[in-house]
Amino acid sequence: MSKKIQAIRGMNDLLPKDSDLWTHVERTIADLFSAYGYKNIRTPVVEKTDTFCRAIGQATDIVEKEMYSWTESNGDSLSLRPEGTAGCVRMMIEHNLPREGIQKVFYQGAMFRHERPQKGRYRQFHQVGLEVFGAADAKIDAELMMMTHSLWKKLGLKNITLEINTLGSSEARASYRNILVEYFSQHKDELDEDSLRRLETNPLRILDSKNREMQSLINNAPKLMDHLDDESAEHFEQFKSYLDCLGIDFVINTRLVRGLDYYNRTVFEWTTTDLGAQGTICAGGRYDGLVEKMGGKPTTAVGLAIGLERLILLLEEQNIEISDNKLSIYIVAPGDAVQLKSMQIANKLHDTLSNVIIYNDMTIGSFKSQFKKADKANADFALILGEEELNDNKISIKPLKSQDEQKTLDLDEAIKFFKDYR
Ligand code: ATP
Ligand code: MG
Repeated sequence: MSKKIQAIRGMNDLLPKDSDLWTHVERTIADLFSAYGYKNIRTPVVEKTDTFCRAIGQATDIVEKEMYSWTESNGDSLSLRPEGTAGCVRMMIEHNLPREGIQKVFYQGAMFRHERPQKGRYRQFHQVGLEVFGAADAKIDAELMMMTHSLWKKLGLKNITLEINTLGSSEARASYRNILVEYFSQHKDELDEDSLRRLETNPLRILDSKNREMQSLINNAPKLMDHLDDESAEHFEQFKSYLDCLGIDFVINTRLVRGLDYYNRTVFEWTTTDLGAQGTICAGGRYDGLVEKMGGKPTTAVGLAIGLERLILLLEEQNIEISDNKLSIYIVAPGDAVQLKSMQIANKLHDTLSNVIIYNDMTIGSFKSQFKKADKANADFALILGEEELNDNKISIKPLKSQDEQKTLDLDEAIKFFKDYR
């Protein structure tokens, strides 16, 4: 026998047993975001490597070590997208969209990062991203919080905390960077190898370190919050007022600096303690300078990304059941004589009923074995087509989830019965 083929480590299949849950989550998100007037967009999975390097920043984990990149025969370096913002910004600039007014968009799809696979961390994973271009007021930052907060409620999730921080203007950040470098330089002997490297390349990221031994050093570091420019401080105050007026609880986490380079002002994460170390299910912030940095006209921007695998893990962890409200009908049609008719009936049911699942038995086995399959499929009704029914031009309906009586009807009466049922 030849060797079994296997998927690549950290890249997962979606199995049929999990597909209802995924579809439910993706639909809930898409319906909610559309209801707020956001448009669904798509960008390619592959972009020029430079697009990601410029957007995400050289001194980040993603660009330093997580990208899947290769060189084309003409010398171009291309990469699988590790996140969605860079491609989205490239699209906005290429098609000149912000010129037409505020752009509110969302997208979903696979992202690729060469990380060490573990629970909640994969090499191919899926995000829903959302971005707004051309709105500077903190009202839009708060709208994003309102939407995600409402999403957790719609999905039935609990134990999710909103952490917020502000990174100020790029000028405030630059002068704070110097203050931070001075502080950590005085404590060089307490820094680990990663942090020593970041001291040169991206000192703010030291605040993000999970190294336990460095926690008190980090907690005592000067805070960006104390070195903010006036406009950013005011913007942050407005953001908090909006959250208060919406009744959305939050905690301020001054160590929240986010992995990516492009953020300014508002940054946030929705986190949970129910998933162990991979507890961030949604993250984002403002990146007012990025469009210009990527070659576009100055355009304010704010966005977020939801990690779908972590969201699904959390739904499972919290034992949240989904119900799709679909009426499911299993056509029980044993024996050769009724097969043509059963296809016609299935076709008619699909044409006339909406929001249903219709299983047409393909085994042509006995009544008994088909009823077993109907139960296994968790169908609401069995629609029975035996030879007797065929001869009388009728069908029988047997409820599978109640003690109600079986009834024998014309097909049109049966369709009416199913339509009225809900
Ligand atoms: P982390 O600190 O967990 O590495 P990150 O800062 O790299 O996260 P972002 O780039 O902000 O994450 O991506 C947004 C969201 O996408 C994360 O909050 C998480 O839910 C999800 N995510 C990021 N990387 C992965 C991964 N490798 N596998 C699964 N989900 C991921
Ligand atoms: Mg990461």
